[in-house]
Amino acid sequence: MRHVCDAPRGRVARDPTGPCDLAAGAIGYVGRMATERQITPQAIEARRAALRQIRQWGDPALRAVARPVERVDADLVTEARRLISIMDAAWGWGLAATQVGVLRRYFVYREGERGDGAATAIVDPEIAWASDERDSDLEGCLSLSGVVVTVERPVAVRMTGLDLSGRPVTIEAEGPLARRLQHEADHLDGVLMIDRTTKDERKAALRALRDGVAMERPDPDAAATD
Ligand SMILES: [Zn+2]
Repeated sequence: MRHVCDAPRGRVARDPTGPCDLAAGAIGYVGRMATERQITPQAIEARRAALRQIRQWGDPALRAVARPVERVDADLVTEARRLISIMDAAWGWGLAATQVGVLRRYFVYREGERGDGAATAIVDPEIAWASDERDSDLEGCLSLSGVVVTVERPVAVRMTGLDLSGRPVTIEAEGPLARRLQHEADHLDGVLMIDRTTKDERKAALRALRDGVAMERPDPDAAATD
């Protein structure tokens, strides 16, 4: 199965204001948008507005290491709700605070294999355990529009942290959700998916970002042996 992390599958829009491939993205999208929402001109406009709030490649916030939250308060809850609405409007399945320039260790995400579950947040996340078994799959990122790369990661993880009530939580995840959690946790350390892909795909991604075009979709099975 092919899937992505904080950007829905098939999203290839490079520039929210430019002649992007939103229609192609909409056709390829297999998640919540396709089943529960209509892709209307209003939804497309809302997505563009959301993407304008998300830091894009080149922004130093994407390379910053976020600081621990330690205490969940009302301000954090309000901020997390704002992140969830940006994530949803952008048709994303995850969004880290650093992606909107907030250098605090938390992220929001949609549960469920296809991002069709509840929206939730995890504060001060730690990967307490990761499986030895790893797999390679495609990832996209709301901060790297037009880029899709193959990333190898552990198949399953146990993540600990706090929920928005400040209570400790442990999440056991595998497959697409485990991948999503790892992708978002990386953002809090200033690590991007292009740091974890193959040399060739990284090169292609950097070229696409530089030129402002969508990169060709790689074949993760071919990359697995790289
Ligand atoms: Zn991302």
